[in-house]
Amino acid sequence: MSTNHFRIAIVGAGIGGLTLALALREYGIEADLYEQTAELREIGAAVALSANGTRFYDRIGLRAAFGKVCFPISTLIFRDGRDGRVIGRHHGEPSYEGQFGACYWGVHRAHLQAILSGAVGPERIHLKKRLADIKDDAGEAVLFFEDGDSARADLVIGADGARSLVRRWMLGYDDALYSGCSGFRGIVPPEKLSLLPERDAIQFWMGPGGHLLHYPIGDGDHNFLLVERNPSPWPVRDWVTNAEPGEQLRRFANWHPAVVEMISAVPTSQRWALFHRPPLGRWTRGRVTLIGDAAHALVPHHGQGANQSIEDAVVLAASLGQHGTGRVAEALEQYERLRRGRTRKVQFASISAADVLHLPDGPAAKARNTRLAQRGEVLHHLGWIHEFDPATQEPSERQGGTWL
Ligand SMILES: Cc1cc2nc3c(=O)[nH]c(=O)nc-3n(C[C@H](O)[C@H](O)[C@H](O)COP(=O)(O)OP(=O)(O)OC[C@H]3O[C@@H](n4cnc5c(N)ncnc54)[C@H](O)[C@@H]3O)c2cc1C
Repeated sequence: MSTNHFRIAIVGAGIGGLTLALALREYGIEADLYEQTAELREIGAAVALSANGTRFYDRIGLRAAFGKVCFPISTLIFRDGRDGRVIGRHHGEPSYEGQFGACYWGVHRAHLQAILSGAVGPERIHLKKRLADIKDDAGEAVLFFEDGDSARADLVIGADGARSLVRRWMLGYDDALYSGCSGFRGIVPPEKLSLLPERDAIQFWMGPGGHLLHYPIGDGDHNFLLVERNPSPWPVRDWVTNAEPGEQLRRFANWHPAVVEMISAVPTSQRWALFHRPPLGRWTRGRVTLIGDAAHALVPHHGQGANQSIEDAVVLAASLGQHGTGRVAEALEQYERLRRGRTRKVQFASISAADVLHLPDGPAAKARNTRLAQRGEVLHHLGWIHEFDPATQEPSERQGGTWL
């Protein structure tokens, strides 16, 4: 595909936008990224990338760079959050990579963004460009930025995350839905985790009305997300509120000492509302389309937001590469067709996972625990997500599976 005269603008240089720029290069296509921040770094948060996402980075030669900063996760453990007993412990056969064909990496977001932006290169990343509006007419699209600047493009890709302005421009309203859960996040160094068992594993500690998820990242630190089914409704317009000292302990003070130790180890001064967005039938309008959270923001209970953004990027780049500039509408049609059903199912699995993790004590929780102990049941729940290769496979109608 020759792109000499075909201008692609990606709004947002986050995980999806940067990955899309790299994926397009596989087809000889260059794109310009417009990012609102002055610097590409996110402090204080990490992400777990599963095989459905990491196989792309592996293929384009970034494995060694990731290897230096990631923790390769091999074991998944479900525990009772209060007494700490193991409910299920699972490995891939013979290993995670052996089973799913690529690694499971715990990585600091700052490291992830540094690797991706380094691979894209600074020439095409335009920082301090906060999109304010789009005009799309028959001839071209024009992006208007808050600093008064503008840019022209033949195709605009909104990769501007869960609070996407491009999506709002497309729909005409903000369709964010509060999931009924909020969370506290933190990164804890290993010396503050003296009580933590099996620290190489990704672990869910479950209990009525809440759960703790944590996993190791690069240097042995643990990234945690403590989720509470509260407050309801979310009381403010913003998605983050200030938290009182010790607020994260209110529901969890009597949980297992390793849980209390982890969530008390670092200041958690903010409570994050977990929002998602309803699936769309179409997410392309004229010359503008969406990827990642902008297309299908989901709650983080499956750790799939970033991974679905990577899958989108791989599929969109391939669709554009295969169709060429003369058939962009067909390319976007194919991209949406390949992504609609799968992302909808992952969104559903993610929101329903919290219902399962937060069950009150009783027969349903007992039945859940029995299922979580069985390898086949857990594979039914997770295998279809992790084993998928967006570069070579089409999602089948039958694909999917949740605990419910
Ligand atoms: C607590 C929590 C834990 C999570 N854990 C995981 C996990 O373990 N695994 C996983 O796969 N996912 C996880 N996620 C989800 C993941 O972070 C997102 O799904 C992922 O970052 C989406 O990628 P994206 O490229 O669509 O958006 P982002 O990575 O959010 O990037 C959007 C970019 O657009 C920029 N931008 C926004 N608005 C504008 C504008 N108007 N103009 C210009 N630029 C703009 C932003 O600055 C940003 O750089 C988690 C999410 C949360 C909240």
